[in-house]
Amino acid sequence: MSKQSKRIEALVYHAKPTPGKIKVVPTKKYASQRDLSLAYSPGVAEPCLEIAKDVDNVYKYTAKGNLVAVISNGTAVLGLGNIGPEASKPVMEGKGLLFKIFADIDVFDIEVDTEDVEAFIATVKNIAPTFGGINLEDIKAPEAFEIERRLKEELDIPVMHDDQHGTAIISAAALINALEIANKNIEEVNIVVSGAGAAAISCTRLYQAFGAKRENIVMLDSKGVIRDDRDNLTPEKAEFATHRRIDTLDEAMKNADVFVGLSQPDIVTPDMLLSMSANPIVFAMANPNPEVNYQVAIDTRDDIIMATGRSDHPNQVNNVLGFPFIFRGALDVRATKINEAMKMAAVKALSELAKQPVPEQVNIAYAETRLTFGKDYIIPKPFDPRLIAEVPPAVAKAAMESGVAKEPIEDWDRYKNSLLE
Ligand code: NAP
Ligand code: MG
Repeated sequence: MSKQSKRIEALVYHAKPTPGKIKVVPTKKYASQRDLSLAYSPGVAEPCLEIAKDVDNVYKYTAKGNLVAVISNGTAVLGLGNIGPEASKPVMEGKGLLFKIFADIDVFDIEVDTEDVEAFIATVKNIAPTFGGINLEDIKAPEAFEIERRLKEELDIPVMHDDQHGTAIISAAALINALEIANKNIEEVNIVVSGAGAAAISCTRLYQAFGAKRENIVMLDSKGVIRDDRDNLTPEKAEFATHRRIDTLDEAMKNADVFVGLSQPDIVTPDMLLSMSANPIVFAMANPNPEVNYQVAIDTRDDIIMATGRSDHPNQVNNVLGFPFIFRGALDVRATKINEAMKMAAVKALSELAKQPVPEQVNIAYAETRLTFGKDYIIPKPFDPRLIAEVPPAVAKAAMESGVAKEPIEDWDRYKNSLLE
């Protein structure tokens, strides 16, 4: 299909038959006068009074507990940059569609017309009573760090900036498995991180939680290696500044075990790949074009373990493996947060799942003859029906064990069965 016909196809998909991708559907009967008098006045006053008496009753009588806000100000949309709140709406609706089909979570997408950190925080706080959880989306760094930090602190419902943590969770699961295949220890590997934005910082922090050593990490931004003697570093960049006296990606890649790209297309050359250590792990995740072309990379080294953000290559690091299931688990125990323990539980559930035999229906969905754990299959596929049964319970359990679950699950078999319905 030509570029032009792909463009038309995408536009028609969004425009017809109904503009947009989601709508609201009633869940109660509304056929008779009696139904309506229950749905609205006078019957509706009863739940209102119950909630006024005890605010937790809002979870019993309204849709709050299964409703997530996908909120953006349109400042860092996909790879398209700051295109404004209205132009971000198709992405936020799309996220709503994914939450619904993968985890049966309802979403209101909210596009906010401000780039001011305080105004954005105030807007989200003021509408939070509506929602069981908040998914922050496509907000540019460094503002995104402060926005998420404050909202997590000041709200008692789960808040997650998916561009940071979604990528971190999926790529950490992929990294753990890639290291196992390469027979390397996370505590010893040299890691080069290209990019110091929302995704890169959060990924690197999570790899550290799994044992990666700060002294083994070299991070680069648009100016080159982030050295500890550089002026005017943001706190996030200073966190990963290296004491090594090198400046370029070329230098950083020598003998590196792992390359993590969350920056720009086509900045890694074959020579750089050749200078990496044996069984190099290369996660080139810039979208839509990776830091190094997939074919170029695997033609350059046959011992490479490669992942990208693209669906047309093996090992796609795709956030959809994370957010629907993480929020599902968090909502189901009415977690007050999505904390480190919950994220790490999601990582472990994903990496374990990739090692299990793949059901035939997954092979069929991806027109694969046999997906088996190995270099070309280090993370589960999004259409794997086992994700909904495995990841939310792991997240829910971690929420309970870390003391943030307000409604702990007692009957796990019943819970798992309910997820599969
Ligand atoms: P971001 O916050 O705008 O950060 C981009 C970072 O890249 C900045 O730190 C920037 O440096 C740095 N950079 C720019 N040119 C560079 C170069 N030549 N070498 C090294 N670093 C360079 O964006 P983001 O949200 O983190 O996303 C970054 C990329 O990752 C995008 O391509 C995005 O599509 C992709 N991504 C992929 C996934 C996935 O699942 N596959 C998920 C999230 C993001 P300065 O700080 O100096 O500006
Ligand atoms: Mg995003």
